[in-house]
Amino acid sequence: MPSPRTYPLPPAEMARAFRQLSRVRRFAVVTLLVPPLITGLMVLVHRVIVPGVLDPFLDSPPWPFRFFSALFYLWLAGWLSLFVLKAFVCPNCGEGFHARTGYHPDHWEFSSAPGARFNINVATGRCLNCGCTTAGEVPVRRRR
Ligand SMILES: [Zn+2]
Repeated sequence: MPSPRTYPLPPAEMARAFRQLSRVRRFAVVTLLVPPLITGLMVLVHRVIVPGVLDPFLDSPPWPFRFFSALFYLWLAGWLSLFVLKAFVCPNCGEGFHARTGYHPDHWEFSSAPGARFNINVATGRCLNCGCTTAGEVPVRRRR
């Protein structure tokens, strides 16, 4: 049985975890933006700029179906990777990096904790629980 991890992780492991986070985040951004952009560009070119230019491609089944299926599943992978981001554990505090611990969906409110304006925010660069950044900067705790 593996021993339970103690937080904060050592600096090398913390840097590795943040590199992993930025890789998943980059994948999410690319896979969420690129398929709609390609589709929009194809429609623009085919309908407006050079009407009918994609007819040879679109009239050769099953390639259009396979192409647009691949785009769709790539886009779906982007949406699923947001759940992977939501599950990311902060290497500084051991809580969720993108999800505030202890919130209740029926009683959510804006928090005054650093970086915690939302209860779930997969686009944040700060941990929603301890406020540390992806650069490894840990904020000084203020007394309330
Ligand atoms: Zn944290």
